[in-house]
Amino acid sequence: MSASGDYDVLVIGGGPGGYACAIRAAQLGLKTACVEARPTLGGTCLNVGCIPSKTLLHATHLLELARDGHMAGFGIDTGPVSVDLARLMARKEATVASLAGGIDFLFRKSGVDRLSGRARLAGSGRVDIGGKSVTAKAIVIATGSLPTGLDGLQVDNDAGIVVDSTGALSLPRIPGRLAVIGGGAIGLELGSVWRRLGAAVTVVELADSILPGMDADIRGTMTKLLVRQGMEILASTGVSGAEIRKDGAILKLRGAEGEVSELAADVVLVATGRRPNTGDLGLETAGITPDMGGFIPVDARGRTVVDGIHAIGDVTHGPMLAHRAEDEGIAMAERLAGRPGTSNSAIVPAVVYTDPEVAAVGRTEESLRAEGVAYRASTFPMLANSRAKANGSTEGFVKLLADEASGVVLGAHMVGTVAGTMIAEVAQAMEFGATAEDIAYTCHAHPTHNEAIKEAALGLFGAAIHS
Ligand code: FAD
Repeated sequence: MSASGDYDVLVIGGGPGGYACAIRAAQLGLKTACVEARPTLGGTCLNVGCIPSKTLLHATHLLELARDGHMAGFGIDTGPVSVDLARLMARKEATVASLAGGIDFLFRKSGVDRLSGRARLAGSGRVDIGGKSVTAKAIVIATGSLPTGLDGLQVDNDAGIVVDSTGALSLPRIPGRLAVIGGGAIGLELGSVWRRLGAAVTVVELADSILPGMDADIRGTMTKLLVRQGMEILASTGVSGAEIRKDGAILKLRGAEGEVSELAADVVLVATGRRPNTGDLGLETAGITPDMGGFIPVDARGRTVVDGIHAIGDVTHGPMLAHRAEDEGIAMAERLAGRPGTSNSAIVPAVVYTDPEVAAVGRTEESLRAEGVAYRASTFPMLANSRAKANGSTEGFVKLLADEASGVVLGAHMVGTVAGTMIAEVAQAMEFGATAEDIAYTCHAHPTHNEAIKEAALGLFGAAIHS
């Protein structure tokens, strides 16, 4: 490990933004180091985000299939099913450890120097890491984000009563009652995990429905489906206070009309969002001032106001998603190596890994209407998709939006068991500037869920075959 010395590129933060940036920079021949404060690489995503949550979601989906007779319709009867929470958590940890080791391997393979410790800017071009000074021609800040708290609700993951997403990924026992504050992706995914494990889950959401900001049909469909699965959802409801006890909490709730009620829970998950992680980064030493939300202001090329200091991923404005961070990291490395390096902030798919999954890319009908853009919409139900029917999972739909005049695809919104995988087709089509016809006349394998996208595209010019 190189503890000091000059680098072409020094990346601060080893999350999906930072590590991808470092690997690509090294591949392109730049002398690169990546400094990470955690013992393991992979950032929020790998350590306490995407990967552990998806491991738990997958495992608890299997549990539900086996336990609740979902396979009986196929003639498969299961016996009594039990969960060993400790083994489930051990599997999650092993998955994380294995992938983290993979990034170390990739660093060695591509020649990235891994530096350990907390980095602090010490002026332009210089970074202090545990008392040692490292200089670099280009510094890339990729320090990610942290959970936001809620006034009056002190998160204490060790005590395990009021927890954030990190605590909710490692609860030592299954709570009888889990209150989830916040009906966004993280709240619904972790709420699903613990509901499947046996907790009575209540989601409290301040907006008028879960998944605020997403397509209205997605919000309505998912509310219906999650309630049917047993999740209680209190929309238009805020938390106005809390009494924390040794063995649980009583939340004071306030509805849209000002009505007051109480919600008792053994564990409260605060999933109200995330904030950029810029604390103690020494931004002021370099002359960088975070904006009102704490984000590092950058231009379209990720440049801060200071020459040679750049920022990518969650620490900058944009959707707080691992693939956005990764794309920006790769594009940044390519620009630093003198290549064009682009990432498209208009086409960033968003996925919620509930069952069924939710996926969206591009514009919503709401935003198009607000801007007065003339568009066409076509919706195809998964009920009419032969693969979904064969699999016995017909919930959901694909909605495609296209420009009225040109037919260029403007957005897609879907609910379906594999919507998170399907959305890539539309994202790629949009990257290529595709029209509805381009998608509709592309041969799709049969029987696949993606045929629902083709049918929705055909429907945009009145040619859907199966609906
Ligand atoms: P991060 O991943 O946050 O990495 C930043 C790294 O910088 C951290 O490892 C941190 O320790 C390090 N660091 C910070 N300050 C310093 C310093 N001064 N010196 C050295 N190191 C420092 N996104 C998805 O796309 N899909 C999902 O399914 C998904 N699921 C999620 C589930 C949960 C529960 C959570 C919490 C998040 C999820 N996300 C998901 C969001 C995703 O994790 C983030 O968008 C992504 O990790 C951001 O990447 P990043 O590289 O910008 O920052």
